[in-house]
Amino acid sequence: MLRWAGAALIVAGAMTARGDDFAYQLKPTAVADGVYALIGKTENFTRDNGGNIVNTGFIVGQDGVIVIDSGPSKAYGTQQRAAIAGVTPQKVTQVYLTHAHPDHFLGNQAYADVPIAATVATNAALRQSGDALLDNLYRLVGGAMSGTQVQFGSADAAPGSVRIAGRALRLIPAAGHTAGDLMVFDEATKTLFTGDLVFFQRALTTPNADIPRWLATLDAIDKLDFKVMVPGHGPVLRDHAGVMQTRDYLQWLSGALKDAANRGLDMPEVMRLPIPERFRTLAVLQTEYSRSIAHLYPAYELETLPAARP
Ligand SMILES: [Zn+2]
Repeated sequence: MLRWAGAALIVAGAMTARGDDFAYQLKPTAVADGVYALIGKTENFTRDNGGNIVNTGFIVGQDGVIVIDSGPSKAYGTQQRAAIAGVTPQKVTQVYLTHAHPDHFLGNQAYADVPIAATVATNAALRQSGDALLDNLYRLVGGAMSGTQVQFGSADAAPGSVRIAGRALRLIPAAGHTAGDLMVFDEATKTLFTGDLVFFQRALTTPNADIPRWLATLDAIDKLDFKVMVPGHGPVLRDHAGVMQTRDYLQWLSGALKDAANRGLDMPEVMRLPIPERFRTLAVLQTEYSRSIAHLYPAYELETLPAARP
């Protein structure tokens, strides 16, 4: 705890006067009957966007509201809850976290009085790495993070069908983007919240990715009977284009890294490889491609080494 508190103090000394009053100007968009998304920017984390580079959402039931992801900061979570109150008088009765990345769970403090559920793996990752992720976001985002601390989920999400606030939901655990992704499917409207298993028009983040598992999950998503998809980043979809684009990018990335390792390229050479034309319009492409190489390439290089002799 001391470590992040120290980082927060250092950042606080250098930060702008914005502090807690960073205005996210969250505007819920109705994507289906009683289902709303809060669409973030497709940018890197900056002080100007306050970390709002993420999609979150909520579902209004008969006697309660279900929130999907709490956003990147305490201020975001608080303003998300206020935005929900602007749509419905129903109280928030459940929060689900799609995974343990900081733009998705650091608003939890705004829901201290509400059950917050995530997969077993996500809850474990929050306990293990939550403070380090928080440190990093303070460093990148600064003032808007003021007062933000890691608040753990209060329960493990049981997979399968549940009825909450009179709304039938299906909780679908998966993996690939992280070890413990969770999707939330609203049965009445066939709306699927995918978390970061699907990105659209924005390059993928891969710090905890397992590409073969991610590809298998995308195949499973294709079989789901969804009509509306809220991806983790990028515009809302009513077709499979986000799944196709995410799959295409992962297949290209893993193929390119494998090929580069076989050719014996070093990391700076891989960073200079041309990116196919069809991906060049993706937001934050160069940054995420470089990060992906840094995360993923060493494993591909290891695979090319001759097996050690006994
Ligand atoms: Zn993520």
